[in-house]
Amino acid sequence: MSQDQIVRAMTNDGAFRCMAVRGTETINRIFAAQAGDPETHRALGGLVLGALLYRETMAPDLRVQCIIRGAGRTGSIVADSHPSGMTRGLYQRGKDGPFTLQGEGAILQMTRNLPRGNQHQGLIDASNATIDRALMSYFEQSEQITTMIGVGLPISDNQQAAVATAYLVQLLPEVKDARDRLAVLTERLAHDFADMDAIARQTDGDPKAIIEEIFYGMDFTFLSESPVFFGCTCSEERIQASLLSLHRSELMSLIDEGEPVEMSCDYCGAEYRVEMPQLRSLLMKKGDA
Ligand SMILES: [Zn+2]
Repeated sequence: MSQDQIVRAMTNDGAFRCMAVRGTETINRIFAAQAGDPETHRALGGLVLGALLYRETMAPDLRVQCIIRGAGRTGSIVADSHPSGMTRGLYQRGKDGPFTLQGEGAILQMTRNLPRGNQHQGLIDASNATIDRALMSYFEQSEQITTMIGVGLPISDNQQAAVATAYLVQLLPEVKDARDRLAVLTERLAHDFADMDAIARQTDGDPKAIIEEIFYGMDFTFLSESPVFFGCTCSEERIQASLLSLHRSELMSLIDEGEPVEMSCDYCGAEYRVEMPQLRSLLMKKGDA
């Protein structure tokens, strides 16, 4: 079994739910398309895994987008995940690299796209945090759900992820003895899951093995497993739409240059070429506006 997937489980007493994801292949495809330094890769991979957990726990049927802006002008990272499991990421370089949350002005923004074009959005200060800490603060502050998150992302010498895995445990509302139960689980996680990179390697990121370990000694049920994979939403049509959004005079000057327009997708690196006849027909579509 080597395919990426996300698994959901719940304790039989209804106290906790847990999601775990293996995203090794997905994350490595994203790393290959984005090419950053190891620290940036850790943040990028962590945010993508966080987006997958966020979607699975809050909105499995919706598209989610998570953006983290680095401290100062160190750039930003975007993670984008669809209900099908299709997931992509983007690293936008800042003026002062490399990407870091250490310093002031770092912000984490979590968005789920609701039906009919509305959005549910939460924003928190992520200055001097780590990605997993920032995600935990988000759930605490914006969703008011006590949440524990761990990310295991050992990066090898060639800057690929040896394994990419993460878990999320949430205390469900209206639980009796919530405080005591939480204390027990928190202590277990702090003790047994302190080194998530080691756990990632030991389990090869297998979500079920990780959940079994987290819920050790508790009765629980696996509820679902869904695929996770790298993919992009870019297309010929979208590229044309972006050209169509240019001002008429800009479009005309592209045509005057007499060369086809070459563009590449920032997310996946796919290259597109818009030939002269297509450019002319776009100008026609634009009319006199
Ligand atoms: Zn693309």
